[in-house]
Amino acid sequence: MLDDKITHHAGKTTEQSFARRIVRIVCAVTLIGILLPFFALNTVLSIVLFRSPLKKQKWLDIGGGVVELYVWQAGVFKSSAIIINIVRDDIHFVGTPIIWGQTSVPNVRRFKSPCAKAGVFDSLQLHRLTGLVAGDIPSLLAAQNAQGMAKDFAMVLKILVCRCIYLDGGAKQANTSVFGIPFDNTKMDDAVNWVCAPHTKEHYCQIGYFLNANSINLAASNSELQKTLSQSNKNFADGSGMRLAARHAGIDLADNINGTDMLPVLCNKALETGSSFFLLGAKEGGAEQAGKALEARFPGLNIRGTHHGYFKDDSEIIEKINNSGATILLVALGSPRQEMWLAKNKHRLDCRCALAVGGLFDFFSGSIPRAPLWMRELGLEWIWRLMQEPRAKFNRYIIGNPVFLFRVYVLKQSIRGL
Ligand code: UDP
Repeated sequence: MLDDKITHHAGKTTEQSFARRIVRIVCAVTLIGILLPFFALNTVLSIVLFRSPLKKQKWLDIGGGVVELYVWQAGVFKSSAIIINIVRDDIHFVGTPIIWGQTSVPNVRRFKSPCAKAGVFDSLQLHRLTGLVAGDIPSLLAAQNAQGMAKDFAMVLKILVCRCIYLDGGAKQANTSVFGIPFDNTKMDDAVNWVCAPHTKEHYCQIGYFLNANSINLAASNSELQKTLSQSNKNFADGSGMRLAARHAGIDLADNINGTDMLPVLCNKALETGSSFFLLGAKEGGAEQAGKALEARFPGLNIRGTHHGYFKDDSEIIEKINNSGATILLVALGSPRQEMWLAKNKHRLDCRCALAVGGLFDFFSGSIPRAPLWMRELGLEWIWRLMQEPRAKFNRYIIGNPVFLFRVYVLKQSIRGL
Protein backbone atom coordinates (compact mmCIF):
# COMPACT_ATOMS: atom_id res chain seq x y z
CA MET A 1 0.00 0.00 0.00
CA LEU A 2 2.74 2.38 1.06
CA ASP A 3 4.81 1.23 -1.92
CA ASP A 4 1.83 1.97 -4.18
CA LYS A 5 1.60 5.46 -2.77
CA ILE A 6 5.30 6.05 -3.24
CA THR A 7 5.22 4.71 -6.81
CA HIS A 8 2.15 6.80 -7.58
CA HIS A 9 3.77 9.90 -6.10
CA ALA A 10 7.03 9.26 -7.92
CA GLY A 11 5.10 8.70 -11.17
CA LYS A 12 3.25 11.96 -10.74
CA THR A 13 6.51 13.81 -10.07
CA THR A 14 8.06 12.32 -13.20
CA GLU A 15 4.96 13.27 -15.20
CA GLN A 16 5.15 16.79 -13.81
CA SER A 17 8.82 17.19 -14.61
CA PHE A 18 8.17 15.80 -18.10
CA ALA A 19 5.38 18.35 -18.61
CA ARG A 20 7.67 21.10 -17.31
CA ARG A 21 10.38 20.05 -19.72
CA ILE A 22 7.97 20.14 -22.67
CA VAL A 23 6.70 23.60 -21.67
CA ARG A 24 10.29 24.80 -21.18
CA ILE A 25 11.36 23.60 -24.63
CA VAL A 26 8.26 25.06 -26.31
CA CYS A 27 8.89 28.46 -24.63
CA ALA A 28 12.60 28.41 -25.48
CA VAL A 29 12.00 27.41 -29.12
CA THR A 30 9.35 30.15 -29.41
CA LEU A 31 11.85 32.69 -28.06
CA ILE A 32 14.45 31.46 -30.53
CA GLY A 33 11.85 31.92 -33.30
CA ILE A 34 11.23 35.51 -32.19
CA LEU A 35 14.94 36.26 -31.92
CA LEU A 36 15.88 34.39 -35.12
CA PRO A 37 16.72 37.56 -37.12
CA PHE A 38 19.22 38.60 -34.40
CA PHE A 39 20.61 35.07 -34.13
CA ALA A 40 21.15 35.08 -37.93
CA LEU A 41 22.76 38.53 -37.78
CA ASN A 42 25.11 37.47 -34.95
CA THR A 43 26.10 34.32 -36.85
CA VAL A 44 26.85 36.26 -40.06
CA LEU A 45 28.82 38.92 -38.16
CA SER A 46 30.89 36.25 -36.39
CA ILE A 47 31.67 34.52 -39.72
CA VAL A 48 32.71 37.88 -41.24
CA LEU A 49 35.01 38.41 -38.23
CA PHE A 50 36.40 34.85 -38.59
CA ARG A 51 35.12 33.83 -35.19
CA SER A 52 32.97 30.96 -34.13
CA PRO A 53 29.49 32.41 -33.45
CA LEU A 54 29.19 31.02 -29.91
CA LYS A 55 31.56 30.67 -27.01
CA LYS A 56 31.06 29.23 -23.56
CA GLN A 57 31.31 31.38 -20.45
CA LYS A 58 31.66 30.00 -16.94
CA TRP A 59 29.52 31.25 -14.05
CA LEU A 60 28.88 30.04 -10.54
CA ASP A 61 25.54 29.29 -8.96
CA ILE A 62 24.91 30.06 -5.30
CA GLY A 63 25.69 26.45 -4.40
CA GLY A 64 29.21 26.98 -5.76
CA GLY A 65 28.47 24.83 -8.86
CA VAL A 66 29.99 25.85 -12.20
CA VAL A 67 27.45 26.74 -14.92
CA GLU A 68 28.66 26.93 -18.52
CA LEU A 69 26.52 29.17 -20.69
CA TYR A 70 26.63 30.16 -24.34
CA VAL A 71 27.18 33.74 -25.41
CA TRP A 72 27.34 35.24 -28.92
CA GLN A 73 30.84 36.33 -29.91
CA ALA A 74 29.57 39.22 -32.02
CA GLY A 75 26.40 41.17 -32.69
CA VAL A 76 23.46 42.18 -30.52
CA PHE A 77 21.74 40.68 -27.44
CA LYS A 78 24.86 38.58 -26.89
CA SER A 79 23.60 36.86 -23.76
CA SER A 80 20.41 35.71 -25.56
CA ALA A 81 22.39 32.61 -26.58
CA ILE A 82 21.51 31.31 -23.12
CA ILE A 83 18.21 30.12 -24.63
CA ILE A 84 20.22 27.40 -26.39
CA ASN A 85 21.31 26.17 -22.93
CA ILE A 86 17.66 25.99 -21.92
CA VAL A 87 16.74 23.93 -25.00
CA ARG A 88 19.69 21.64 -24.22
CA ASP A 89 18.39 21.35 -20.63
CA ASP A 90 21.71 22.65 -19.20
CA ILE A 91 19.74 25.19 -17.18
CA HIS A 92 16.08 26.05 -16.54
CA PHE A 93 14.12 29.28 -16.81
CA VAL A 94 13.54 29.12 -13.04
CA GLY A 95 16.15 27.47 -10.85
CA THR A 96 19.14 27.88 -8.54
CA PRO A 97 20.34 31.51 -8.65
CA ILE A 98 23.38 32.19 -10.81
CA ILE A 99 25.89 34.77 -9.57
CA TRP A 100 26.13 37.14 -12.52
CA GLY A 101 29.51 38.75 -11.99
CA GLN A 102 33.17 38.15 -11.34
CA THR A 103 33.60 35.74 -8.50
CA SER A 104 35.50 32.60 -7.59
CA VAL A 105 34.51 29.49 -5.68
CA PRO A 106 36.22 30.40 -2.36
CA ASN A 107 34.37 33.73 -2.35
CA VAL A 108 30.93 32.21 -2.75
CA ARG A 109 28.83 31.91 0.36
CA ARG A 110 27.28 28.58 -0.49
CA PHE A 111 23.62 27.79 -0.12
CA LYS A 112 22.39 24.28 -0.73
CA SER A 113 19.66 24.70 -3.30
CA PRO A 114 16.78 22.23 -3.60
CA CYS A 115 16.32 23.17 -7.30
CA ALA A 116 17.46 20.58 -9.85
CA LYS A 117 19.36 23.05 -12.04
CA ALA A 118 20.53 26.63 -12.24
CA GLY A 119 17.98 29.08 -13.62
CA VAL A 120 17.89 32.40 -15.44
CA PHE A 121 15.23 33.60 -12.99
CA ASP A 122 14.86 33.00 -9.26
CA SER A 123 12.96 34.35 -6.29
CA LEU A 124 16.08 35.97 -4.77
CA GLN A 125 16.33 38.16 -7.88
CA LEU A 126 12.76 39.30 -7.41
CA HIS A 127 13.25 40.12 -3.74
CA ARG A 128 16.55 41.85 -4.49
CA LEU A 129 14.89 44.11 -7.08
CA THR A 130 12.37 45.50 -4.58
CA GLY A 131 14.64 45.04 -1.55
CA LEU A 132 11.96 42.89 0.06
CA VAL A 133 13.01 41.11 3.23
CA ALA A 134 10.50 38.28 3.52
CA GLY A 135 12.40 35.15 4.45
CA ASP A 136 15.89 33.68 4.43
CA ILE A 137 17.58 32.32 1.31
CA PRO A 138 17.00 28.58 1.99
CA SER A 139 13.28 29.06 2.70
CA LEU A 140 12.82 31.28 -0.38
CA LEU A 141 14.50 28.65 -2.56
CA ALA A 142 12.47 25.85 -0.97
CA ALA A 143 9.24 27.74 -1.72
CA GLN A 144 10.39 28.41 -5.28
CA ASN A 145 11.21 24.75 -5.80
CA ALA A 146 7.79 23.67 -4.49
CA GLN A 147 5.78 26.07 -6.65
CA GLY A 148 3.97 24.98 -9.81
CA MET A 149 4.42 26.20 -13.38
CA ALA A 150 1.79 28.95 -13.08
CA LYS A 151 3.69 30.46 -10.13
CA ASP A 152 6.99 30.14 -12.01
CA PHE A 153 5.44 32.03 -14.90
CA ALA A 154 4.03 34.72 -12.58
CA MET A 155 7.45 35.05 -10.90
CA VAL A 156 9.21 35.59 -14.23
CA LEU A 157 6.62 38.23 -15.15
CA LYS A 158 7.11 40.00 -11.79
CA ILE A 159 10.89 40.01 -12.27
CA LEU A 160 10.55 41.52 -15.75
CA VAL A 161 8.15 44.21 -14.48
CA CYS A 162 10.39 45.03 -11.49
CA ARG A 163 13.46 45.20 -13.73
CA CYS A 164 11.75 47.90 -15.77
CA ILE A 165 10.71 49.87 -12.68
CA TYR A 166 13.49 49.45 -10.14
CA LEU A 167 16.58 48.17 -11.95
CA ASP A 168 19.77 49.06 -10.07
CA GLY A 169 20.80 52.65 -10.50
CA GLY A 170 24.53 52.43 -10.05
CA ALA A 171 27.22 51.86 -7.51
CA LYS A 172 26.15 51.00 -3.98
CA GLN A 173 26.78 53.80 -1.54
CA ALA A 174 26.46 53.14 2.19
CA ASN A 175 25.43 56.62 3.33
CA THR A 176 23.67 58.86 0.94
CA SER A 177 20.84 61.35 0.58
CA VAL A 178 17.84 62.22 -1.56
CA PHE A 179 15.88 65.49 -1.51
CA GLY A 180 18.44 66.87 0.94
CA ILE A 181 17.74 64.25 3.62
CA PRO A 182 20.49 61.75 4.45
CA PHE A 183 19.69 58.06 4.83
CA ASP A 184 21.52 54.79 5.37
CA ASN A 185 21.64 52.44 2.41
CA THR A 186 21.74 49.27 4.43
CA LYS A 187 20.79 45.61 4.80
CA MET A 188 18.04 44.67 7.23
CA ASP A 189 20.41 42.74 9.50
CA ASP A 190 22.73 45.74 9.83
CA ALA A 191 19.79 48.05 10.57
CA VAL A 192 18.55 45.69 13.30
CA ASN A 193 22.06 45.32 14.75
CA TRP A 194 22.20 49.10 15.07
CA VAL A 195 18.83 49.24 16.85
CA CYS A 196 19.90 46.59 19.39
CA ALA A 197 23.48 47.84 19.79
CA PRO A 198 24.49 48.98 23.27
CA HIS A 199 24.99 52.64 22.22
CA THR A 200 27.85 53.98 24.25
CA LYS A 201 26.66 57.39 25.42
CA GLU A 202 24.50 56.90 28.53
CA HIS A 203 21.08 58.57 28.79
CA TYR A 204 21.05 59.47 25.17
CA CYS A 205 18.45 57.89 22.99
CA GLN A 206 19.41 57.16 19.36
CA ILE A 207 16.65 58.05 16.91
CA GLY A 208 15.81 56.20 13.68
CA TYR A 209 13.18 57.21 11.11
CA PHE A 210 11.77 55.41 8.09
CA LEU A 211 12.00 57.72 5.11
CA ASN A 212 9.27 57.13 2.55
CA ALA A 213 7.42 58.99 -0.21
CA ASN A 214 4.96 60.40 2.33
CA SER A 215 7.62 61.76 4.69
CA ILE A 216 9.47 63.32 1.75
CA ASN A 217 6.24 65.00 0.59
CA LEU A 218 5.46 66.20 4.13
CA ALA A 219 9.00 67.51 4.64
CA ALA A 220 8.84 69.48 1.38
CA SER A 221 6.17 71.73 2.87
CA ASN A 222 7.28 71.53 6.52
CA SER A 223 10.77 72.89 7.15
CA GLU A 224 10.63 71.80 10.78
CA LEU A 225 10.09 68.19 9.70
CA GLN A 226 12.82 68.49 7.07
CA LYS A 227 15.22 69.62 9.80
CA THR A 228 14.05 66.88 12.16
CA LEU A 229 14.55 64.15 9.57
CA SER A 230 17.99 65.51 8.67
CA GLN A 231 19.10 65.51 12.31
CA SER A 232 18.18 61.93 13.25
CA ASN A 233 20.86 59.34 14.03
CA LYS A 234 19.69 57.14 11.17
CA ASN A 235 17.09 57.22 8.43
CA PHE A 236 16.13 54.07 6.54
CA ALA A 237 14.88 53.96 2.95
CA ASP A 238 11.33 52.60 3.13
CA GLY A 239 9.16 51.64 0.18
CA SER A 240 9.06 51.57 -3.59
CA GLY A 241 8.94 55.38 -3.85
CA MET A 242 12.35 55.68 -2.24
CA ARG A 243 13.67 52.87 -4.44
CA LEU A 244 12.49 54.74 -7.51
CA ALA A 245 13.99 58.04 -6.29
CA ALA A 246 17.28 56.29 -5.47
CA ARG A 247 17.37 54.66 -8.89
CA HIS A 248 17.06 58.05 -10.57
CA ALA A 249 19.70 59.48 -8.26
CA GLY A 250 22.09 56.70 -9.34
CA ILE A 251 21.94 54.87 -6.02
CA ASP A 252 21.64 51.10 -5.86
CA LEU A 253 19.52 50.56 -2.76
CA ALA A 254 20.14 47.54 -0.54
CA ASP A 255 17.10 46.32 1.44
CA ASN A 256 13.73 47.99 1.70
CA ILE A 257 13.84 48.83 5.42
CA ASN A 258 10.28 49.33 6.64
CA GLY A 259 8.95 48.85 10.14
CA THR A 260 6.64 45.95 9.28
CA ASP A 261 9.38 43.80 7.75
CA MET A 262 11.87 44.92 10.39
CA LEU A 263 9.84 44.03 13.48
CA PRO A 264 10.07 40.20 13.25
CA VAL A 265 13.83 40.42 12.58
CA LEU A 266 14.15 42.92 15.42
CA CYS A 267 12.25 40.67 17.85
CA ASN A 268 14.59 37.76 17.11
CA LYS A 269 17.59 40.02 17.62
CA ALA A 270 16.08 41.38 20.85
CA LEU A 271 15.75 37.83 22.18
CA GLU A 272 19.42 37.23 21.35
CA THR A 273 20.68 40.48 22.86
CA GLY A 274 18.31 40.76 25.82
CA SER A 275 16.76 44.00 24.52
CA SER A 276 13.29 45.00 25.68
CA PHE A 277 10.48 47.10 24.20
CA PHE A 278 8.01 49.84 25.01
CA LEU A 279 5.22 50.28 22.47
CA LEU A 280 3.76 53.78 22.28
CA GLY A 281 0.96 54.69 19.89
CA ALA A 282 -2.15 53.59 17.98
CA LYS A 283 -5.69 53.66 19.30
CA GLU A 284 -6.62 52.62 22.85
CA GLY A 285 -5.66 48.94 23.24
CA GLY A 286 -3.81 48.76 19.89
CA ALA A 287 -0.28 48.77 21.30
CA GLU A 288 -1.28 46.34 24.06
CA GLN A 289 -2.80 43.92 21.55
CA ALA A 290 0.24 44.19 19.28
CA GLY A 291 2.47 43.51 22.30
CA LYS A 292 0.48 40.40 23.23
CA ALA A 293 0.59 39.12 19.63
CA LEU A 294 4.37 39.65 19.54
CA GLU A 295 4.89 37.87 22.87
CA ALA A 296 2.86 34.92 21.58
CA ARG A 297 4.86 34.80 18.34
CA PHE A 298 8.26 35.30 19.98
CA PRO A 299 8.18 33.46 23.32
CA GLY A 300 10.38 35.17 25.90
CA LEU A 301 10.14 38.58 24.23
CA ASN A 302 10.41 41.31 26.83
CA ILE A 303 7.71 43.94 26.34
CA ARG A 304 8.03 46.24 29.33
CA GLY A 305 5.06 48.49 28.64
CA THR A 306 2.52 49.87 26.18
CA HIS A 307 0.46 53.06 25.87
CA HIS A 308 -1.99 54.34 23.28
CA GLY A 309 -1.07 57.33 21.12
CA TYR A 310 -3.81 59.80 22.02
CA PHE A 311 -2.27 61.52 25.02
CA LYS A 312 -1.68 65.16 25.92
CA ASP A 313 0.88 65.10 28.71
CA ASP A 314 4.33 64.16 27.37
CA SER A 315 5.96 64.12 30.84
CA GLU A 316 3.63 61.47 32.19
CA ILE A 317 4.28 59.21 29.19
CA ILE A 318 8.05 59.76 29.30
CA GLU A 319 8.10 58.86 32.99
CA LYS A 320 6.20 55.68 32.23
CA ILE A 321 8.62 54.75 29.44
CA ASN A 322 11.71 55.48 31.57
CA ASN A 323 10.32 53.60 34.57
CA SER A 324 9.66 50.57 32.39
CA GLY A 325 13.42 50.17 31.77
CA ALA A 326 12.77 49.26 28.10
CA THR A 327 15.82 49.58 25.85
CA ILE A 328 13.92 50.07 22.58
CA LEU A 329 10.98 52.43 22.12
CA LEU A 330 8.63 52.06 19.15
CA VAL A 331 6.58 55.20 18.52
CA ALA A 332 3.49 54.87 16.29
CA LEU A 333 1.82 58.29 16.26
CA GLY A 334 1.68 58.79 12.46
CA SER A 335 3.79 61.28 10.50
CA PRO A 336 4.83 63.97 11.21
CA ARG A 337 3.71 63.81 14.86
CA GLN A 338 5.90 60.80 15.75
CA GLU A 339 9.07 62.31 14.26
CA MET A 340 8.50 65.70 15.92
CA TRP A 341 7.63 64.06 19.24
CA LEU A 342 10.85 62.05 19.26
CA ALA A 343 12.99 65.00 18.22
CA LYS A 344 11.48 67.10 21.01
CA ASN A 345 11.77 64.44 23.72
CA LYS A 346 14.82 62.35 22.86
CA HIS A 347 16.98 63.97 25.54
CA ARG A 348 14.46 62.99 28.20
CA LEU A 349 14.27 59.33 27.14
CA ASP A 350 16.41 56.71 28.89
CA CYS A 351 15.98 53.95 26.30
CA ARG A 352 18.89 53.22 23.97
CA CYS A 353 17.05 53.54 20.69
CA ALA A 354 13.68 54.82 19.47
CA LEU A 355 12.06 54.29 16.09
CA ALA A 356 9.10 56.11 14.54
CA VAL A 357 7.02 53.26 13.11
CA GLY A 358 3.72 54.66 11.73
CA GLY A 359 0.88 52.17 11.50
CA LEU A 360 2.99 49.21 12.67
CA PHE A 361 0.87 48.25 15.69
CA ASP A 362 -2.29 48.18 13.55
CA PHE A 363 -0.68 45.39 11.49
CA PHE A 364 0.67 43.40 14.42
CA SER A 365 -2.49 43.73 16.53
CA GLY A 366 -4.35 42.26 13.55
CA SER A 367 -6.64 45.26 13.06
CA ILE A 368 -5.29 45.86 9.52
CA PRO A 369 -4.16 42.84 7.45
CA ARG A 370 -0.79 43.02 5.67
CA ALA A 371 -0.70 43.17 1.87
CA PRO A 372 -0.33 39.80 0.12
CA LEU A 373 3.23 38.80 -0.77
CA TRP A 374 2.77 39.27 -4.54
CA MET A 375 1.86 42.93 -3.98
CA ARG A 376 4.89 43.46 -1.75
CA GLU A 377 7.08 41.70 -4.31
CA LEU A 378 6.01 44.27 -6.89
CA GLY A 379 6.42 47.18 -4.44
CA LEU A 380 2.66 47.82 -4.53
CA GLU A 381 1.82 47.60 -0.83
CA TRP A 382 0.52 51.17 -0.99
CA ILE A 383 -2.41 50.04 -3.21
CA TRP A 384 -3.39 47.57 -0.51
CA ARG A 385 -3.22 50.24 2.17
CA LEU A 386 -5.34 52.54 0.01
CA MET A 387 -7.92 49.76 -0.37
CA GLN A 388 -7.96 49.20 3.42
CA GLU A 389 -8.47 52.87 4.31
CA PRO A 390 -9.53 54.72 1.11
CA ARG A 391 -10.60 57.92 2.88
CA ALA A 392 -7.72 58.17 5.34
CA LYS A 393 -5.09 57.39 2.68
CA PHE A 394 -6.61 59.29 -0.27
CA ASN A 395 -4.40 62.36 0.07
CA ARG A 396 -1.28 60.39 0.84
CA TYR A 397 -1.47 58.09 -2.17
CA ILE A 398 -3.81 59.52 -4.83
CA ILE A 399 -2.47 63.07 -4.49
CA GLY A 400 0.88 62.29 -2.83
CA ASN A 401 2.18 59.66 -5.26
CA PRO A 402 1.94 61.76 -8.45
CA VAL A 403 3.44 64.69 -6.52
CA PHE A 404 6.29 62.44 -5.36
CA LEU A 405 6.86 61.17 -8.91
CA PHE A 406 7.07 64.76 -10.09
CA ARG A 407 9.67 65.44 -7.38
CA VAL A 408 11.63 62.40 -8.59
CA TYR A 409 11.46 63.76 -12.14
CA VAL A 410 12.76 67.16 -10.99
CA LEU A 411 15.50 65.44 -8.97
CA LYS A 412 16.57 63.46 -12.03
CA GLN A 413 16.69 66.57 -14.20
CA SER A 414 18.70 68.47 -11.57
CA ILE A 415 21.19 65.59 -11.30
CA ARG A 416 21.53 65.59 -15.09
CA GLY A 417 22.17 69.32 -14.81
CA LEU A 418 19.21 70.32 -17.00
N1 UDP B 1 -1.88 57.72 15.84
C1 UDP B 1 -1.70 57.94 17.19
N2 UDP B 1 -1.84 59.20 17.67
C2 UDP B 1 -2.13 60.26 16.87
C3 UDP B 1 -2.29 60.02 15.48
C4 UDP B 1 -2.15 58.73 15.00
O1 UDP B 1 -1.41 57.01 17.92
O2 UDP B 1 -2.24 61.37 17.36
C5 UDP B 1 -1.71 56.34 15.35
C6 UDP B 1 -2.83 55.79 14.53
O3 UDP B 1 -3.83 55.23 15.39
C7 UDP B 1 -2.12 54.75 13.70
C8 UDP B 1 -0.74 55.33 13.53
O4 UDP B 1 -0.60 56.35 14.48
O5 UDP B 1 -2.04 53.54 14.42
C9 UDP B 1 -0.48 55.99 12.19
O6 UDP B 1 -0.69 55.16 11.18
P1 UDP B 1 -0.42 55.57 9.68
O7 UDP B 1 -1.11 54.54 8.87
O8 UDP B 1 -0.78 57.00 9.44
O9 UDP B 1 1.13 55.46 9.60
P2 UDP B 1 2.06 55.11 8.40
O10 UDP B 1 2.64 53.76 8.69
O11 UDP B 1 1.24 55.09 7.15
O12 UDP B 1 3.06 56.22 8.44
